[in-house]
Amino acid sequence: MTQIDDTRGLDYHESLLWEKARSDTPGVDLPTPENKPLRTGQNARAEIGLPQISEPQAVRHFVRLSTKNYSIDHGFFPLGSCTMKHNPRLNEKMARLPGFAHLHPLQPMETTQGALALMCELQRWLGELTGLPGVCLTPAAGAHGELAGIMTIRAAHLHKGHHHKTVILVPDSAHGTNPATAAMCGYTIRTIPTRETGRVTLSAFKEALGDGYDVAGMMVTNPNTCGLFEKDIREISDLLHKAGGYFYGDGANFNALVGKIRPSDLGVDVMHINLHKTFSTPHGGGGPGSGPICCTPELAPYMPTPIVIKDQNTYRLEQAGERPTSCGQLKGFHGQFGMHVRALSYMMSHGKDGLKRVSEDAVIHANYILSQLQDDYHVPYAGPCMHECLLTDKIQKEKGVTTLDIAKTLIEYGMHPMTVYFPLVVQGAMLIEPTETESQAELDRFIHVMKMVAQDVTAGRTDTLHTYPVSAPRRRLDEVKAAKEPNLRWKVS
Ligand SMILES: *Cc1c(COP(=O)(O)O)cnc(C)c1O
Repeated sequence: MTQIDDTRGLDYHESLLWEKARSDTPGVDLPTPENKPLRTGQNARAEIGLPQISEPQAVRHFVRLSTKNYSIDHGFFPLGSCTMKHNPRLNEKMARLPGFAHLHPLQPMETTQGALALMCELQRWLGELTGLPGVCLTPAAGAHGELAGIMTIRAAHLHKGHHHKTVILVPDSAHGTNPATAAMCGYTIRTIPTRETGRVTLSAFKEALGDGYDVAGMMVTNPNTCGLFEKDIREISDLLHKAGGYFYGDGANFNALVGKIRPSDLGVDVMHINLHKTFSTPHGGGGPGSGPICCTPELAPYMPTPIVIKDQNTYRLEQAGERPTSCGQLKGFHGQFGMHVRALSYMMSHGKDGLKRVSEDAVIHANYILSQLQDDYHVPYAGPCMHECLLTDKIQKEKGVTTLDIAKTLIEYGMHPMTVYFPLVVQGAMLIEPTETESQAELDRFIHVMKMVAQDVTAGRTDTLHTYPVSAPRRRLDEVKAAKEPNLRWKVS
């Protein structure tokens, strides 16, 4: 059979809309207006350069592209630190209820009491689960929540006249958004090294703290990005508080703790919650994200606005002027309301006991994978782990097979790779987070592929591992070139 383009079976070759477009087949067929005076004055309408394409062509284009995407609804997605759990359809149904879906943010508050009550209830649940009752729902993602939280800390220090507090402590295993956030707020970053243990030790912390005079706070993810619980966190937070610093808890890994531990009991003063991680609202293309912050009563006056409050039987959005020490408004209106509906639906359908079970199952699943793979792959820090497990390519690399090869092999077997080369402190890192929503069959399938790779490496069958994926819409790309010389434009020839 002759190959007519790159289409193979149901995997279509899909060119750009501009490549398909033909000037003699416009998608819209309107008569050319004759002798009509221009109602826009001198501003004649210019060609806007949209491709001319018919409706069925446009529909096929986007449907074909959509089939090239991989998603949590396709298959296993063990992307460490991202908590890619199933998005229950009940939540979607709730968010689509016309009373929620058709609201407009400028509607008078008398007509949006139900929505405000829902947000108030979500604030209450988040406050209860974290032990931090000051809740602001507006931040649009985790990183935005970090910004909100560090701005809150900064506003508190400035209000107290603590201008000498200019340093934020961040462990070297932190997500890049932590130091970036602190730097954006004008702080100097002092790194706490964790290399040997994978944890912040009391001695490393004390050294970074010094006499604490210039320390405004610290940002710590717990469990951390090595999948480990920070055992000394209570002593560390006590010392930090004694020195007049605040503890920012990066809540991205809350899925390991929800319902089991209240971050306030660990000394956290303010933290963000990624609703799109822990509370199952869709990520990325299915987003938008949502990153509410929760804080202590002491920090609440400095939180961003607006907050939903209840006056007797009426709900309303508090505005900036009502919280004069607030660090300000960070987002138009009140945040991603559709995500608030989904997250509350998730919480209420699980209940307090169900949420506890979520974190227990997430932790058991990660430990199951660790226990099955620890003889095949190098484990940098001994288990048990929390809700994600960390492996490296140390053993395989001796035979030339790297973390990148292993990730690409997973694509060949129809799975999304784990998080690779992160955390940065571990060479060739593979951070695997299965989440609680996977079946044992799916976990076993992943383990099977990982074992196959390890056995192929041991047996010296490594050639094909460097070529994968061969069955995906795209083969291996020159990632270095793509990063160094990104070519993001298609030129009309
Ligand atoms: C995901 C993540 C963030 C940032 O959250 P976004 O919602 O992606 O902005 C911060 N810290 C850690 C540890 C994360 O995993």
